[in-house]
Amino acid sequence: MTCIFCHIIEHRLPAEILYEDKEITVFKDVNPAAPVHLLIVPKKHIDSLNALKEKDADLVKKMVLVAKMMAEKQGIQNGYRLMINNGREAGQVVYHLHMHLLGGWGK
Ligand code: 5GP
Ligand code: ZN
Repeated sequence: MTCIFCHIIEHRLPAEILYEDKEITVFKDVNPAAPVHLLIVPKKHIDSLNALKEKDADLVKKMVLVAKMMAEKQGIQNGYRLMINNGREAGQVVYHLHMHLLGGWGK
């Protein structure tokens, strides 16, 4: 299986990684849709929100808290958006679960 985000997480593909812990990697979106556009990605490969199992629910909680922390670090805590695209019709292109953190319009 080849997954771009797994490769980035394993440091086998270059990316601007801004944060990393045991469970989560955060890097800049290569094609930003906002002045600040980060991707909050669990290290565990899960295809999409549809594929999320109850046992991995804590990961989503962690993703949201890391997003909040990153918004503070980026100085955009006054206005940001979190987004998860699920499925092709919604624009999901990379089938490794990830949350978009968008903001920085007022900068
Ligand atoms: P999706 O549309 O699947 O929710 O979001 C995928 C996002 O990943 C897109 O915003 C796209 O720009 C970004 N992306 C795709 N490939 C790469 C890559 O190789 N590196 C980085 N940093 N971002 C990527
Ligand atoms: Zn993956």
